[in-house]
Amino acid sequence: MSAAGLMGLTIPETFGGSGADYVAYALALEELARVDAGTAVTLSVHLMIAGAILRLGSDVQKSHYLPQLAGGDVIAGFALTEPDAGSDAASIRSTARRSAGGYALRGRKQWCTNGGYAGVTMAMFRTGAPGAKGISAFLVDNALPGIVLEKTTEKLGIHTSNTVDLAFDDVAVPATALLGAEGEGLNGALSALTTGRIGIAAQATGILAACLEASVKFAKEREAFGKPIAAFEGVSFKIAQMATDLDAARLLTWRAAARCDRGERFALEASQAKLFASTAARRHAAEAVQIHGGYGYTTEFPVERYYRDAKITEIYEGTSEIQQLIIARALLGRLE
Ligand SMILES: Cc1cc2nc3c(=O)[nH]c(=O)nc-3n(C[C@H](O)[C@H](O)[C@H](O)COP(=O)(O)OP(=O)(O)OC[C@H]3O[C@@H](n4cnc5c(N)ncnc54)[C@H](O)[C@@H]3O)c2cc1C
Repeated sequence: MSAAGLMGLTIPETFGGSGADYVAYALALEELARVDAGTAVTLSVHLMIAGAILRLGSDVQKSHYLPQLAGGDVIAGFALTEPDAGSDAASIRSTARRSAGGYALRGRKQWCTNGGYAGVTMAMFRTGAPGAKGISAFLVDNALPGIVLEKTTEKLGIHTSNTVDLAFDDVAVPATALLGAEGEGLNGALSALTTGRIGIAAQATGILAACLEASVKFAKEREAFGKPIAAFEGVSFKIAQMATDLDAARLLTWRAAARCDRGERFALEASQAKLFASTAARRHAAEAVQIHGGYGYTTEFPVERYYRDAKITEIYEGTSEIQQLIIARALLGRLE
């Protein structure tokens, strides 16, 4: 991916990147996910952090990190979730205590994508009172003493994506490690996740595209009752719906990406794209297995992998229920 310029895809050329926009990012992630969804999320998270540094970072942070990320010499990770705080991110407990010349980071971060080989992690810690305003974001070099890789998590799918728990045991970071203003860390994390959702929508779209390709091929080749199974409406209508939902997922993703590129508000559209694409990917991956019959349940065909990979797109970077919450709030306002 480095050789192809993908590790720096959305990083400006002035920092050694490819200077591409978010529509190009959606296209690249869809193509990667069509082949391997775990590889796609590796890149998606890496570029999500690069985007956050670009938006929120100081000049020194940008010139230090962005060229390394663009070249793929350093991989970026993201650490918000904790054992007792996922969707309710404002309730994280890990702390950043002021110390001489900086902060001491303490706590446990769960399911950090890329965490096993990341050189830098955008990590959120509590610097103030409970609630959203007491959280700050830091750029933490993973080689610092006190960062312990506690566990590599085994998962249902996306096996090519690395997922780890990291313990921070009084990790000393300088004050310059702060990303954005103190107390603004949750906003920074949520804005990163908004662009990240375009990536996960594209990932789901890629899985869906792979399901369609495999299903069309198999339905034309496999014969039952003297004809290709594609001749049965019970099979061909599944494929028709799959193709239609694929285009809808793709267009919703491109709309969110294009709005982001034009500098327009795109949080609602990114949530709609992720909600639709991930639901469609999960549903049609199950249909792709069904179309393949018994072969679909074996590892001889790739659809069992698509089925396992699709599920995560409904969970990470905000579950489907959280996307519905964001969409409903955008339409109705906060009612509580
Ligand atoms: C493979 C993998 C990779 C990940 N990578 C990262 C990463 O790189 N960095 C990181 O910080 N995190 C990462 N995560 C964490 C992921 O983002 C969270 O798992 C996700 O946000 C959900 O949080 P949770 O698991 O704590 O579920 P919970 O928040 O406990 O939710 C459990 C259920 O309750 C529902 N729910 C919760 N609140 C509401 C509500 N208000 N209304 C309706 N329903 C609700 C949820 O939708 C869900 O169905 C990863 C997770 C996995 C599995």
